[in-house]
Amino acid sequence: LARNAGEREFHQAVNEVFESLGPVLVRNPDYADAAVLERLCEPERQIIFRVPWVDDAGDVQINRGFRVEFNSALGPYKGGLRFHPSVYLGIVKFLGFEQVFKNALTGMPIGGGKGGSDFDPRGKSDGEVMRFCQSFMTELYRHIGEYTDVPAGDIGVGGREIGYLFGQYKRITNRYESGVLTGKGLTWGGSLVRKEATGYGTVIFAERMLGTIGESFDGRRVVVSGAGNVALYAIEKAQQLGAKVVACSDSSGYVLDEKGIDLDLLRQVREVERGRVSDYAERRGAVYVAGRRVWEVGAHVALPCATQNELDDDDARTLVASGVKVVAEGANMPTTPKAMTLLQEAGVMFAPGKAANAGGVATSALEMQQNASRDSWSFEHTEERLATIMGDIHDRCLATADEYGVPGSYVAGANIAGFVRVADAMLALGLV
Ligand code: NDP
Repeated sequence: LARNAGEREFHQAVNEVFESLGPVLVRNPDYADAAVLERLCEPERQIIFRVPWVDDAGDVQINRGFRVEFNSALGPYKGGLRFHPSVYLGIVKFLGFEQVFKNALTGMPIGGGKGGSDFDPRGKSDGEVMRFCQSFMTELYRHIGEYTDVPAGDIGVGGREIGYLFGQYKRITNRYESGVLTGKGLTWGGSLVRKEATGYGTVIFAERMLGTIGESFDGRRVVVSGAGNVALYAIEKAQQLGAKVVACSDSSGYVLDEKGIDLDLLRQVREVERGRVSDYAERRGAVYVAGRRVWEVGAHVALPCATQNELDDDDARTLVASGVKVVAEGANMPTTPKAMTLLQEAGVMFAPGKAANAGGVATSALEMQQNASRDSWSFEHTEERLATIMGDIHDRCLATADEYGVPGSYVAGANIAGFVRVADAMLALGLV
């Protein structure tokens, strides 16, 4: 704790994983002998840098940039960049730590890392965002590469930002190295389905969970938090599977639309106009509730797709009272530890983000495959690969939970399966 003082979210993420690992350590003492747990908690490399840029008024602004290269036992560091005012080392380290296990769970050859900045893209002009991204990459470029570290998007970093970052990388290095970033646009090395992958993958995972009790999304009431990249495509896939998605949110409040969310309008407001869910509610004639959390509307399936610790024990009680059957995390660590315990004790099926939202990074790995072979696959083929990967992760979580005596626990299954894959690679590579 003293070694990582004040990094609250990092402590939370580490505790959540380590609580599951008792049975593994008993079965294989080599992990303890080689100090695998201690090594897993210490990032291989942490980079913190100054990001100076000039705003539209001509004033100089300074932000702080981060890249934490956590673990490369399985492949190059891989994980997104987050631009949000709340970003500090503790957030980047929690995300990087989670990413190590998530990436291991996909079965693909990718290590774990994460980065970002306390820059707030909200309210910034396009030119300001571009100048910030160029300055950020002017430092970051020397640390990344297709065989070293491959960043992608996260909160506040979408197609526009990846474009500016890639443009600056190309300019500085004089290399069209498509594999250095994922989440690229389709005309410059991107992959079909990457944009949709995290949201789609979460819903595909939740559909498999429902399948274990003979249910499906068809006709079910669904609530999604957030209205960003993950939320929008979780809504789309849930609707395609016949669900009625009645609510979504942003950090100001939520919209309740009992007719079912009109996705075309929501995408127009969010992706094109960069507006708020309150704008959607006004145009749609739906109910807008400011300053409250979306969970109070109740649902059969709840999909937290916004940010960390956005579903607490009070929210969990409300969801349980509304008869919720499945909670699958599209976001990273959106459920507090207390809420997670409460949901599981109430018999709610609960899937942690490192399993349920792994479709995004898995499709990033598919983007890297296409870049390496200078190929581009069809939407159908790529979506089929995503569905297979999500199904495999689902089954691996359940099989591992069974094997280690905690049947039905997606949390334990995901933590143990991810840990064993990365820990075995670390043992094989020696003390590095
Ligand atoms: P976006 O920036 O596209 O969207 C984030 C959304 O969450 C926005 O609608 C934002 O609202 C909302 N939000 C942020 N804070 C809160 C809050 N406290 N309460 C309610 N809503 C909030 O990010 P993404 O969709 O890409 O990421 C969402 C989550 O999914 C993150 O946890 C991320 O780490 C995770 N994730 C993302 C992946 C990806 O491929 N993009 C992959 C795997 C995980 P506002 O506009 O008001 O800030």
